[in-house]
Amino acid sequence: MANQFIEEKITELTRKGDMEKAKFLKNLHKKILPSQFEKIQKNDKSVMKEMFMPKWVSWEMLRAWADNFQMPGKGRVCILCGEKSENGIDFNEKFICENCFVRLKHLE
Ligand SMILES: [Zn+2]
Repeated sequence: MANQFIEEKITELTRKGDMEKAKFLKNLHKKILPSQFEKIQKNDKSVMKEMFMPKWVSWEMLRAWADNFQMPGKGRVCILCGEKSENGIDFNEKFICENCFVRLKHLE
């Protein structure tokens, strides 16, 4: 998961000894809902009102972050294990994740 912009920001903050901010950025995805994340990606600034971001987090920062970040759990829900996954196959119009698919193949 390459996210150079935020990585550099975290490194910079850590160097300055601003651990609180560095930690905040590391966990940024936990503070943003998937729907809000989508709005950031679409450059919909109205989402700023829905989020509780500290003043030092600028819109530009969020945008750069969202451009490079992949939300965990993005993908489709597997009918077997219920986990979200991006990799898998369609089976009778249902989604089966890669892990379950591999497991099924071993059962055969
Ligand atoms: Zn599965």
